[in-house]
Amino acid sequence: MKTIALIAHDRKKQEMLKFAQDHSEILMQYSLVATATTGRILNENTQLKVQPYLSGPMGGDLQIGARIAAQEIDLVIFLRDPLMAQPHEPDITALLRVCDVHNIPVATNEGCAHLLLKALAQMNG
Ligand code: PGA
Repeated sequence: MKTIALIAHDRKKQEMLKFAQDHSEILMQYSLVATATTGRILNENTQLKVQPYLSGPMGGDLQIGARIAAQEIDLVIFLRDPLMAQPHEPDITALLRVCDVHNIPVATNEGCAHLLLKALAQMNG
């Protein structure tokens, strides 16, 4: 089963929840992983089963990055907050870099996430 990683910065978490609810029929066909808080919000408020890693500031982005490097993640949806600097900015940069190194599609905003998810679902179908 293909795996999708879901990460949202604090001011993007409601947007991520709405996105997951709107795309739940597609998302439920995949194995899902997330950083801790994002995963908890999705597990508590949707029917989706999301495997949580550590919170982003505690190294969760790097844990997911390691799985990307191991070719175990097929798509990354990372709703970043472009207006607020994050304390773990180096980890975020590393995660995006490892996506590029391994040619893994990564969406950093909802519009791109919608298109990539649709495309992935069509490729499977
Ligand atoms: P969180 O981590 O889901 O645990 O808040 C996300 C992040 O800030 O990278």
